[in-house]
Amino acid sequence: MTVGVTAAPSWLYASAHADRSKVRLLMRCFWDARQLLHAPAQELHNGAFMPFAEHPGRPRSILDAIGPTEAPRDQGEAPLLRVHPRDYLDFVKNAFAEWRAAGRPGDAAGYVWPVVRRRPLRLERIDARLGRYSMDASTPIAEGTWDASYWSVQTALAALGAVLAGERAAFALCRPPGHHAGADYAGGYCYLNAAAVAAEAAIEAGRSRVAILDIDYHHGNGTQDIFYDRGDVLFVSIHADPATDYPFYWGHADEMGAGAGEGATLNLPLPRGADMTGFGDALDAALARVADFAPDLLLCSYGADTFSGDPISFFRIETADYAVIARRIAALGLPTAILMEGGYAVDALGANTAAFLSGF
Ligand SMILES: [Zn+2]
Repeated sequence: MTVGVTAAPSWLYASAHADRSKVRLLMRCFWDARQLLHAPAQELHNGAFMPFAEHPGRPRSILDAIGPTEAPRDQGEAPLLRVHPRDYLDFVKNAFAEWRAAGRPGDAAGYVWPVVRRRPLRLERIDARLGRYSMDASTPIAEGTWDASYWSVQTALAALGAVLAGERAAFALCRPPGHHAGADYAGGYCYLNAAAVAAEAAIEAGRSRVAILDIDYHHGNGTQDIFYDRGDVLFVSIHADPATDYPFYWGHADEMGAGAGEGATLNLPLPRGADMTGFGDALDAALARVADFAPDLLLCSYGADTFSGDPISFFRIETADYAVIARRIAALGLPTAILMEGGYAVDALGANTAAFLSGF
């Protein structure tokens, strides 16, 4: 597939152009064009079907701003299987074809979720499996969803590989994002959890302690869920208070891990309207916790939906703030792989991401 570059607005081109050489000098960036193949038509949002917000224009905006990228090599499914069970991978891989085989138009989407007294029944209809393997109605499976998700994770593994090989920091333009996906469920535009796969790959490569810092506007419930009982992977998240914002059921301050993972989860929810003052205080607390944990490696789940102009989010971070946030993270002095999560103000997404990367 040939990937065209969409024309950027002139103001973005000018600012991105200035950033471009800086970013290129500072950091290797990874991306695979097959990540564009995922393009669901619509999602259920606030009770109405809306155009799908997590669309291919997002990575195009970022690519315009960051300049050249490297393609990841294919590391196969083995790294994915350290996080996601075989039956779930097969579901994501086959759901669209099964949907079509059932005579359905459009993208595969569930409408029944097994909330109470769920049992491992034989789930014959695709509708039953869509409920079993997802947590919401905003994550349809389209024709290219598996390929795009697979390469999104390979992109994360490539950035991790660069860091493990000695790079100070590297960027994976993961798309679709991953942090809402659990081991066996999709949700929040996420199908495979790239941060979790990267963390497990780092451990497989001999790193004994990995910290994940999630600074997307939304709580990374999938990542938290995967490592909730683990003491070797620290999960720290700054996000909108789930009392008011998606994903509602997770990300509250009293969720701190369980069993061997007790104390290895830290949630720092902020009220809507938080600007750099509130966010900066939370960032200080987050970074102090990461430093205490003394990890071998940092994975940063970076979402630009904390931006003041984001259409579905309500923080007030400005473009220039992202460089400040990144510099503070970089000051930890840890090898860092940065993984793209959300960000829906597409005209500013490239500039915001370039600003963040420039801070490293
Ligand atoms: Zn988000």
